[in-house]
Amino acid sequence: MTNKLGPPQDIGFIGLGNMGAPMAHLLVQAGYRLHVADKSDDAVRAFAAQHAGTAAPDLAVMGTACAVVITMLPNGNIVRDVLLGAGGVADGLGAGAIVIDMSSSSAVGTRRLHEELARRDIQLIDAPVSGGVKKAVDGTLAIMAGGAEQAVKFCEPLLQVMGKVFYTGIPGSGHAMKALNNYLSAASLASACEAVMAGSRFGLDPALMVEILNVSSGRSNSTESKFPLYILKRQFNSGFAVGLLAKDLGLAREIAEATATPATLMQACAELWESAEARLGFSADHTEYMKYLEKLVEE
Ligand code: NAD
Repeated sequence: MTNKLGPPQDIGFIGLGNMGAPMAHLLVQAGYRLHVADKSDDAVRAFAAQHAGTAAPDLAVMGTACAVVITMLPNGNIVRDVLLGAGGVADGLGAGAIVIDMSSSSAVGTRRLHEELARRDIQLIDAPVSGGVKKAVDGTLAIMAGGAEQAVKFCEPLLQVMGKVFYTGIPGSGHAMKALNNYLSAASLASACEAVMAGSRFGLDPALMVEILNVSSGRSNSTESKFPLYILKRQFNSGFAVGLLAKDLGLAREIAEATATPATLMQACAELWESAEARLGFSADHTEYMKYLEKLVEE
C-alpha cells in the first residue's frame, strides 16, 4: 500500500443515484479509473455514456480489479448485501482492500460490518456526507469519516475530491454523526414549516417571515436555503427523498436507544417524518413536508 491514494488508481463505485452519479463523475475528472455498478441498468448506461469503459461486468469482478470500493446506496442493509451477499464485491476483494461506505447507514450495523469485513482482512471506513446534490456536484460535501485513522489518511486524497474530510474516530462514528446531523436538519425543517404555516394562516406573508427569520434567532439551513430554493417557489426538487430522511431519523433513534439517551423530541420527530413518508410516498422530495402539513389542514 502506498502512502496516499492518488490517481490513476482503480476505484469501484456502487450506487449512481442523485448523489453517487455526481460524486463518481468528479472522481473520473480527477483522474481515477472508475469501475461502476448500480442495480439500475439505466443509471449505469447513463454514466458509461459520459465516461466510456467504466461499467463493471459484475460486483465480484469489480472487487478483483479494485483495492478500494465506494458504496453510495440507500441504506446499510443494501451495502451489506452488495458486499457480503452471493456474488458480492467481497468475493473479489483481496486482503488489505478498503471499502468506503459513503451512504447514510446504521452506525450500529456498521460496527458489525466492520468486524465481519476485518475477518476477511478488508477495512471499512464509514464516510457519509452532508450537503445534498448541489454540494455533491460542486465537490464541497462535508465528509464524516470513521474507522482506522491510517486508512482514512490513506484515502484522504480521494475523499477530498468530493469534499472536506472530518476524521470522527471509532468505526461507525461517521454514520452516527451523520444520523444525528440529519435529526437536527429534519427537526428544523419540520418546525420551520409549522411556524411559517401558522404565521401565514394568521395573516403574515411567508416570504417576509423567511426574510425576518434569516436575520433573527430562528434561522437555520432550512430557512436560509430550503425555503427560498424549494418551498417558497413550490419547486420541490432538492433531490433528497422523504423516505431517506425518515430512515435517517430511525438511525438517530437507534443511536439514542443504544446509548440510553433521553430523546423525547427525537422520538416525536422520527414519528412525524414516518407519517410524512406514509402520506407523501418514499420518493417525494423531503421539502414536500410543507405539502404534508397542507394535506393535514385539508382533512
Ligand atoms: P438515490 O435513491 O438517488 O440513489 C441510490 C442508488 O442506489 C440508485 O441509483 C439505486 O438504483 C441504487 N441501488 C439501490 N439498491 C441497489 C443495489 N442492491 N445494488 C446496486 N445499486 C443499488 O439516493 P441518493 O439520494 O443518491 O442517496 C444515496 C445515499 O446518500 C443514501 O444513503 C442517502 O440517505 C444519502 N444522502 C443523500 C443526500 C441527498 O441529498 N440526496 C444527501 C446526503 C446523503
